[in-house]
Amino acid sequence: MGIVKKRRYQMESIDEPLEVIVRGTDVLNEPLLNKGTAFTEEERDALGLRGLVPPKVVDIEEQVVRVLENYRRKTDPLEKFIFLTSLHDRNETLYYKVLTENLMEMTPIVYTPVVGAACQQFGHIYRKNRGMYISLNDKGRIREMFDNWNQDEIDIIVISDGSRILGLGDLGANGMGIPIGKLALYVAGGGVYPCKTLPVLLDTGTNNQELLDDPLYLGLHQKRGDDVEYYEMVDEFVKAVQDRWPKALIQWEDFTNDHAFPILNKYRDEVLCFNDDIQGTGAVALSGLLGGMRMKGEKLADQRIIFYGAGSAAVGIADMIVAGIVEESGMSEEDARKLFWLLDSQGLVVHDGPRPLQDHKVPYARHEELIPDLLDVIKQVKPTILVGVSGQGQTFTEDVVKEMLNYSDQPIIFALSNPTTKSECTAEQAYRWTDGKAIFASGSPFDPVRMGGKIYVPGQGNNMFIFPGVGLGAALCQASKVTDAMFYTAAKTLAEMVTEEELSLRTVYPDLRKIRKISATIAVGICEMAFASGLAGIEEPEDIREFVESKMFHPEYPRYVAATE
Ligand code: NAD
Repeated sequence: MGIVKKRRYQMESIDEPLEVIVRGTDVLNEPLLNKGTAFTEEERDALGLRGLVPPKVVDIEEQVVRVLENYRRKTDPLEKFIFLTSLHDRNETLYYKVLTENLMEMTPIVYTPVVGAACQQFGHIYRKNRGMYISLNDKGRIREMFDNWNQDEIDIIVISDGSRILGLGDLGANGMGIPIGKLALYVAGGGVYPCKTLPVLLDTGTNNQELLDDPLYLGLHQKRGDDVEYYEMVDEFVKAVQDRWPKALIQWEDFTNDHAFPILNKYRDEVLCFNDDIQGTGAVALSGLLGGMRMKGEKLADQRIIFYGAGSAAVGIADMIVAGIVEESGMSEEDARKLFWLLDSQGLVVHDGPRPLQDHKVPYARHEELIPDLLDVIKQVKPTILVGVSGQGQTFTEDVVKEMLNYSDQPIIFALSNPTTKSECTAEQAYRWTDGKAIFASGSPFDPVRMGGKIYVPGQGNNMFIFPGVGLGAALCQASKVTDAMFYTAAKTLAEMVTEEELSLRTVYPDLRKIRKISATIAVGICEMAFASGLAGIEEPEDIREFVESKMFHPEYPRYVAATE
């Protein structure tokens, strides 16, 4: 039997009635328990709710109709965000029912791009707390603070320091919208239990003067401090998590590169954690390339790859492709890296360039002359794959795209920069300039393109294909760490889920509407790998798929009875 004791909610299954210790308005005010008008007559009696809700007992389907009617009446995307947030804060089951069933319509609201606008306005639209804020003032007290969170079982923590929110820069404590949004996708897309998620914002100040000047800004009104104190805070956070929630997976989210790589490298082998901007992005792009290889009947080890952009996304993707090549062909890591040429704002990333190399670029730097211009690099390298992660819109010009045809009859062109205006080229340009021969994918969505009586469906390399399944799998088998091999497995699993029909439309990703099936399949792969490599913390179940599916959250109301104690 599920139990709600001291306001802790352990909802493993909705088949068993859940014993509820709180009563009356306390039940209605607790979003994890609230059913609103859907409380049955028996529950209204048992929990002291009679008279506190209208007389008609409504089922969840009718509640969904009412929510959608109100939601769709709003035309301003930020108003839609605020509406969904207040539903989230009122009734989590209903929120997830609505979100899960309308994921394609609502993902752009609860996550990118609208969550970006919501973060910018966070201090102005703030209504109710969700998640935990850790600020410099809390140094030395983080473990103690974690006792204030009333859940003993946490599967996934998403933490950001607000320093590099989407493409919007330093938003300080306003960045909290991102861990909240990401965890909503974990629940809706991955079936993680809402009560087992925890959004965290690490507030070490902000260098955003506009926020510092804004009287309604809710974070610390001070500039970011030095790195010594910063890393001490991160370390205290990690140790406190390991003590309070030893099974929790930590996902690092939207940290600037100078912190993202050192943090990941410090903890990746010791703590159950990953960085979605680096590893999740890497896996989703790798999956698109594996889909492209399926389309072309070729191998990654035979490609020559140019990255336009050399930041966290570029290095994350390149590392993941290297892991894929090593896994697939047995080539050494060092040889696999020789298949890559990266460009940053100065041009080709080389050892003897004008500026000292940032650490993360070193493994990919070439012993070649600096070539500043992309087209010239293409002519020199003769690539088969061109990946854009520069954040610079319209930089894959007609000349650049057409040049790719000289080296491959089906060049792979991925324009991954977000939002749409920053995309290196559009889907239509890629198809038109190559006469439909390009295999194209993007970071932001593009509509299908009709050309010469054919329809081309561009794939969208959405991280959401990967992170919910990886997190779900790693948390369920209580893995001790998340390895690159696990991300490779996730990428391969995703690429194999693209149907022949989808491939014939030249799309390299499956339909996002199948996300829960995709997440479950990826989670099964992660568990299998953890069991096989001795990284799992539980005994291997007889049927891993059945185990994973039985542990997934479905947004349905449990049945409540009053606690007897
Ligand atoms: P970043 O700031 O870490 O890196 C940007 C890189 O682009 C830097 O190396 C910079 O030197 C380089 N650059 C800037 N101007 C350039 C120019 N004119 N020519 C060549 N290189 C230039 O950012 P990031 O986190 O790596 O993200 C980059 C882009 O990738 C963003 O637009 C982001 O939205 C996108 N992205 C997409 C996905 C996805 O599709 N799933 C995931 C993550 C990031």
